[in-house]
Amino acid sequence: MFTPLTGRSVIVTGGSKGIGKGIARAFAQTGANVLIAARDAATLQAAADDLAQHSSGRVETVVADVSRVEDCRRIAQAAVDRFGGIDVLCANAGVFPEKPFTELTEQDVDSVFACNVKGTMFSVQACLPALSARGRGRVVVTSSITGPITGYPGWSHYGASKAAQLGFLRTAAIELAPKGVTINAVMPGNIATEGLDGMGDDYIRGMEAAIPQHRLGSVEDIGNAALFFASDEAGYITGQTIVVDGGQVLPESPAALEGI
Ligand code: NAP
Repeated sequence: MFTPLTGRSVIVTGGSKGIGKGIARAFAQTGANVLIAARDAATLQAAADDLAQHSSGRVETVVADVSRVEDCRRIAQAAVDRFGGIDVLCANAGVFPEKPFTELTEQDVDSVFACNVKGTMFSVQACLPALSARGRGRVVVTSSITGPITGYPGWSHYGASKAAQLGFLRTAAIELAPKGVTINAVMPGNIATEGLDGMGDDYIRGMEAAIPQHRLGSVEDIGNAALFFASDEAGYITGQTIVVDGGQVLPESPAALEGI
């Protein structure tokens, strides 16, 4: 039996869409107070209105760009001002523009790393005093299987950034441990989000065929993993990762999936 997170203060960066909104919903449904942050104000407010219908706690918004350090600090301060502190940071905001490695520019790499790596690191840094003050702070990073485990043409810069998040969290876990703060990462496989709308049935069927469970993951699958890492009961787990992919990384070759 897990201790309910009712009344806890939870930040979800990139909480206006996709996986982040799913994570926010998972916490909102437990009665936590949830602050979602993203750049587009209209999408963010629409998400907050939707989430509020599933929450007994409060849902608040901050328009912010996590690639800017001062915005990371504003997000943390907003949670402290509105909820009285921070129990959980879900560092989820991420971008994944596609471009072949041979065509990548310095700007392409900088912009992906600014959001995915720098944004993660400075979100954690900004929230740390408040997380530490709670004595049981939790950070949950959304990484990916792409980069740390697998590769996909067109996403070399993205994969590098997702692997970099894990390099960061392993040392951060050591530095945060004496402050009573854990940091862990969820590594999603292919998750069904609005981003896949318009990709077409053939694309989706192809992705499903590569997954032993023969379905894409749901944002709820990722939200549940985030809830686990955020729980009181996961307090002795830090610096770790959990792959949530329906078994996608397991087959040694396409032959392993024949007849399955
Ligand atoms: P998504 O639907 O595009 O949502 C991304 C969210 O992040 C949006 O709320 C977006 O809002 C926000 N965001 C992007 N850049 C931001 C910035 N600089 N500052 C603040 N917010 C920012 O993407 P998703 O598929 O849910 O992905 C979410 C996370 O999961 C990412 O870290 C991604 O790498 C990871 N992931 C996704 C999958 C998948 O299958 N979908 C698989 C593995 C890992 P604005 O654009 O308005 O800022």
